[in-house]
Amino acid sequence: MERKVVLITGGSRGIGAATARMAAHRGWDVVISYQHQRDAAEAVVADVQLAGTRALAVQADVGDEAEVLALFGAVDAQFGRLDALVNNAGVVDRAQTVAEMSVQRLERMFRVNTIGSFICAREAVRRMSTRHGGRGGAIVNVSSIASRLGAPGQYVDYAAAKGALDVMTLGLAKEVAAQGIRVNAVRPGLIETDIHASGGQPDRVERLAPNVPMQRGGRAEEVADAILWLMSDGSHYTTGSLVDISGGNL
Ligand code: NAP
Repeated sequence: MERKVVLITGGSRGIGAATARMAAHRGWDVVISYQHQRDAAEAVVADVQLAGTRALAVQADVGDEAEVLALFGAVDAQFGRLDALVNNAGVVDRAQTVAEMSVQRLERMFRVNTIGSFICAREAVRRMSTRHGGRGGAIVNVSSIASRLGAPGQYVDYAAAKGALDVMTLGLAKEVAAQGIRVNAVRPGLIETDIHASGGQPDRVERLAPNVPMQRGGRAEEVADAILWLMSDGSHYTTGSLVDISGGNL
């Protein structure tokens, strides 16, 4: 039987990389996109291939429509099918108050985290919808528990961009439910990845872990587990759901 194909944006590191490796072990062919870190992306590809499934890494900024179109074109050319999209690529910025935020910062935050996810979802729907001749599929958006908490004094812009992604999840889920596509989101809490250092807070997980009811940060694999469930037939009747994975930090 032909294997199913998943496209994971931002699959070179962190939650995306953990999802790619886990998907391969569960029999999926895997396409990952990345922005800058080719070596990290190639290491994920090598791990996926070791697990015995096919893998491809494509450089594409999710906030750039032409690059996203080229990414989906590569999936079409090399795999000829798409069964799941994980909208995982995302960025934070330095901790700032709203009073300090520049328009450039706001535009980047929404372009990558929100508009990028919309463009990828659009391209996935065009391929997977039974109305467009596809065979159905699943979209999993990687949001954040910040959309519940608001992230005051740190990155309200990021929280708001993820809040928009939550609403897209609800609306698109209903829009395409009768077209064979399920759309869900995970909302991770404090997860041990490089994203905190990229926002200038390398010690963020360690510092804030005592505030988490479970008293620890989470691992990327603990988020990947939920993403894999939402991609799989095991969640057949689940759509429009926002699954919080935050050790009780709500
Ligand atoms: P990470 O370790 O910083 O990895 C980010 C990934 O996204 C990398 O693969 C990076 O590619 C890619 N990426 C960044 N900007 C991109 C762009 N414009 N176009 C394409 N790819 C891009 O982050 P993470 O912690 O795994 O986060 C993954 C998702 O989880 C994000 O959406 C994040 O908001 C969300 N999340 C994370 C946490 C957490 O505590 N870690 C909590 C809640 C939500 P390169 O390797 O090429 O740079």
